[in-house]
Amino acid sequence: MDSPECDVVVVGGGIVGLATAYQISRRYPERDIVVLEKEKVLAQHQSGRNSGVLHSGIYYRPGSLKSINCREGRQEMLDFCRTHDIPHEVCGKVIVATEEKELSRLNELFERGVRNGVACEKLDADRLRDFEPNCHGLAALHVQDAGIVDYRRVCFRLCELLQERGGVVQTASQVIQVVAREAEIVVEATTGSWRTQLLINCAGLQSDRVARLCGQQPEVKIVPFRGEYFELGEDAQHLCRNLIYPVPDPGFPFLGVHITRTIHGTVECGPNAVLALAREGYDKWQINWSDVWETLRYRGVHRLLAKHWSAGLEEVRRSFFQSVFLKSLQQLVPAVRSQDLVPAPAGVRAQALRPDGTLADDFVIQREGRFIHVLNAPSPAATSSLNIGGTIANQLNDVLGS
Ligand SMILES: Cc1cc2nc3c(=O)[nH]c(=O)nc-3n(C[C@H](O)[C@H](O)[C@H](O)COP(=O)(O)OP(=O)(O)OC[C@H]3O[C@@H](n4cnc5c(N)ncnc54)[C@H](O)[C@@H]3O)c2cc1C
Repeated sequence: MDSPECDVVVVGGGIVGLATAYQISRRYPERDIVVLEKEKVLAQHQSGRNSGVLHSGIYYRPGSLKSINCREGRQEMLDFCRTHDIPHEVCGKVIVATEEKELSRLNELFERGVRNGVACEKLDADRLRDFEPNCHGLAALHVQDAGIVDYRRVCFRLCELLQERGGVVQTASQVIQVVAREAEIVVEATTGSWRTQLLINCAGLQSDRVARLCGQQPEVKIVPFRGEYFELGEDAQHLCRNLIYPVPDPGFPFLGVHITRTIHGTVECGPNAVLALAREGYDKWQINWSDVWETLRYRGVHRLLAKHWSAGLEEVRRSFFQSVFLKSLQQLVPAVRSQDLVPAPAGVRAQALRPDGTLADDFVIQREGRFIHVLNAPSPAATSSLNIGGTIANQLNDVLGS
């Protein structure tokens, strides 16, 4: 029997894949769209295991994809949440310098925020306490545009809207083979195969592997960084009103361990960033030997470790010793105590690494003929997802013809 035909197959039912399929369905209602997701339920990986923060766009290099997509995507995400009744709140956040050496970086961040069009205000130590009475710092920025949201709910709503427009979402459907023929692409999944004109790879932690299935040799490789969280026990939740962040280390794309109120009313602390021993391993001891082998034999990883071994070891210490994790939190909020910390589910970031050992700082989206590969979509890609999806949808006519 012939495989069913469609115009677009999206691989991956995380927020980027679903937002992309949704944006295509809005702009081209006549196109047949299929989303294939290997898990039984959508948003089981990064999109359902993150800090739930609606980022403002303050951190990113002006003109970068992160900066553009985050600013525009944040607004689109807010409009989407308002229209579809998805729990969210623009509660604002503080970024806090706790050491002298961070003051100049805080200033640079302020200037970057202004250039990116982000509403932010400088605070001295006293003013900081007006926003976060339990937070100690030398100086801080207050970023009004930051907020919190339930990204899992966003994913489920995107799926419903797509299905209402005739789109197909198949879960438990892992893409295992892709054959590019002259006039079509045959996508074989565990639930059957599809013939399509365009394949969009939004496979997150597996995106480099899916690109290779499609016959591409992406320059970057995904390296998984596990991020562990604790929750503050009920008695300690008053220690954080909204979102408290440190000044990030400009050498890394991660924001540092932060304390954040979630839209569900809990307060989370984390995540750290430890090189994970499994791409989809949420437990410290979960090891996938083929992932480990693939990571360890990659030249980029050797170079990364050679350059940043001491920061890497510090992250491992922070993962194995709660006291080290606690110390990072106490730099921001000294009153947090060890007994306030309750272990919470971890997440794993898909971070693209180049062969020269540099972590890709920006989103990486590559078009190769009738394939579009999203090869690096770490934070703030949940905030930016609707804009990333819109940008990809804009390329559709170029690929398929109008
Ligand atoms: C700890 C952590 C904290 C974060 N905090 C924030 C935050 O506060 N704000 C923010 O904006 N961003 C945040 N992010 C980033 C954000 O979560 C991600 O950028 C975003 O979720 C990426 O979405 P995605 O769809 O690309 O990936 P994913 O959600 O990982 O989805 C990819 C999907 O592809 C599927 N898949 C893989 N291979 C196949 C295959 N062969 N066949 C079929 N399906 C396949 C997977 O099962 C998965 O469901 C955070 C990320 C992490 C990990």
